[in-house]
Amino acid sequence: MKVLNMSLANGRAYLAIPGPSVIPDAVLREMHRASPNIYEGELHDLTDSLVPDLKAVAMTNQNVAIYIGNGHAAWEAALANVVSAGDTVLVLATGRFCIGWGEMATDMGITVQTIDYGDHADIDLAQVEDALRADKAGKIKAILAVHVDTSTSVKNDIAGLRRVLDAVGHDALLMADCIASLGCDRFEMDAWGVDVMVAACQKGLMTPAGISFVYYNGKADARRGDRVTRYWDWRARTEPEHYFQYFDGTAPTHHLYGLRKALDMIKAEGLDAVFARHQALAQTVWAAFDCWAQEGPLHLNIADAAKRSHAVTSAGAGSPNADALRQWCEHKAGLTLGIGLGRTPSDAYFRVGHMGHVNAHMIMGVLGTMQAGLSALNIPHGKGALDAAAKVIAASA
Ligand SMILES: *Cc1c(COP(=O)(O)O)cnc(C)c1O
Repeated sequence: MKVLNMSLANGRAYLAIPGPSVIPDAVLREMHRASPNIYEGELHDLTDSLVPDLKAVAMTNQNVAIYIGNGHAAWEAALANVVSAGDTVLVLATGRFCIGWGEMATDMGITVQTIDYGDHADIDLAQVEDALRADKAGKIKAILAVHVDTSTSVKNDIAGLRRVLDAVGHDALLMADCIASLGCDRFEMDAWGVDVMVAACQKGLMTPAGISFVYYNGKADARRGDRVTRYWDWRARTEPEHYFQYFDGTAPTHHLYGLRKALDMIKAEGLDAVFARHQALAQTVWAAFDCWAQEGPLHLNIADAAKRSHAVTSAGAGSPNADALRQWCEHKAGLTLGIGLGRTPSDAYFRVGHMGHVNAHMIMGVLGTMQAGLSALNIPHGKGALDAAAKVIAASA
């Protein structure tokens, strides 16, 4: 029987983009409640309890300031606390995101020196060393680097940047964007010598977009520049007496409840197990792509597996195949893949998010749906992708 308006997209939709990520039902349920008293009681204790767990996921004993805003807010907040007009920052661009952070610095009156590694490579530490050695006058006040660039899915060696800074004896701050990686790819703020780190709640932390975090150490705090305005001042936001009670305005009440639940879930699973799950699922995705790439236009964006993120995979499919595949998956099968953000032509690239609340059956579902789309659209592709993916799941589970 042929029914004209039949759609295989009906059913539970799946957003497999690299943020916002899948929100666990437990987090949604936690948020489904009446507004609490914001002036005293439970909400303050709950907020207080978030701080040690937020530090634990970043492996730090330093400070964390909670902002009401997305990752862009954390970018601006981080800069506002440490730079002064006329300062220079060194932007290490491995995709769209660090460039965006640098543009924000430009808007704030900061001189931006950029080393652009393009869309397929990670940061070359030797080039960073040369740039720092050339800075005899010590103009560079901070290095801005993205741990995982969500547009290219490259993972950068942040600990390596600290080694370079120390080897050169340069005292620029090391500032890292972990918005895509926190809670997905291992990141060790203190062991890696990171001075400032920015993150947001809607990726590995599995909470609806709307709150973000700036982590900072004493060295960064001592750099206090002339751009810091009252709302972005991290000092007020790390002082419990003041901040947990007033949040410089109304607390983001429901986000705090949701985040509490998400952090409980990460704690219960164990951070190492969370990282291992992300690694296994990323390897599952790569195994499928390795097969598809045997024939036709599909290919992973980052050739070296050691430099790929475990949170997101960026791939090329030729123009306009990537766009056609995304449209097919969304409209025919209820699966939304990520756009080729910041890439040219954008219809030649797409991304698969596998960050946060994601398990084996979800990833196999994503890959199986993509396989169906490739067939339906007659996009040439190598065979055996689902078999190869299943083998990785079988070996890892
Ligand atoms: C998502 C993302 C951002 C931007 O965060 P928003 O919450 O969308 O403002 C910045 N950097 C990276 C690496 C990201 O993945």
